[in-house]
Amino acid sequence: MKSKQPLQLTLAILKPHVVKSPFVLQKIRDLIIDEGFKVVRSRRTIITPMEAESFYADHKEKFFYNRLMTFMCSGPSDIHILTAHDAIAKWRTLMGPTKVYQAQFHAPHTIRGMYGLSDTRNATHGSDSPESSKREIAIFFKEFNIEHWFKNEEIFYNSGNLKFDPSLFIHTIDRTRKINESDQDTTMI
Ligand code: GDP
Ligand code: MG
Repeated sequence: MKSKQPLQLTLAILKPHVVKSPFVLQKIRDLIIDEGFKVVRSRRTIITPMEAESFYADHKEKFFYNRLMTFMCSGPSDIHILTAHDAIAKWRTLMGPTKVYQAQFHAPHTIRGMYGLSDTRNATHGSDSPESSKREIAIFFKEFNIEHWFKNEEIFYNSGNLKFDPSLFIHTIDRTRKINESDQDTTMI
């Protein structure tokens, strides 16, 4: 039996200036769904200084670190675990370049090209590797067990046996639908 390509998980953050603007928030949510991502977890929270410090530890020495900390903790962010095939690269492509002028010039139809306000307020975050996705998910979804998800739930997300709640912005497993036999042979990475 041929196995399906396994899904990948990534951590996405819709930063505070996006969450403050209902029109922009909805546009970004629509893009996420239209691009075929499934939303595994969603939470809205004001990121604490401790979480931000741990999240951006690699940037501690950068000139923009203090303004980044202040901004990220300035109001509610929407934090999501997204899944898709090649979710990490796919989400970074949809976000566009980090620097907003570069995004506006080279990739005007990306999220950062359309909704970034400055290099700090560049609309969204996305993990840059499988290792950082694991590390970042552990910071914001402490109860989420990645191994358990791949073992028990990935198959439902991979075969599309899901229900979508647009107001909670989350896909949950639809256990009333039968999984195709060819979908049952998924391997975990
Ligand atoms: P990302 O992975 O594309 O988000 O980019 P980085 O990991 O390099 O940087 C983390 C975050 O720091 C970015 O999303 C921006 O919010 C911010 N940042 C990065 N570079 C700059 C910069 O040159 N100036 C300012 N003000 N902020 C920056
Ligand atoms: Mg980064």
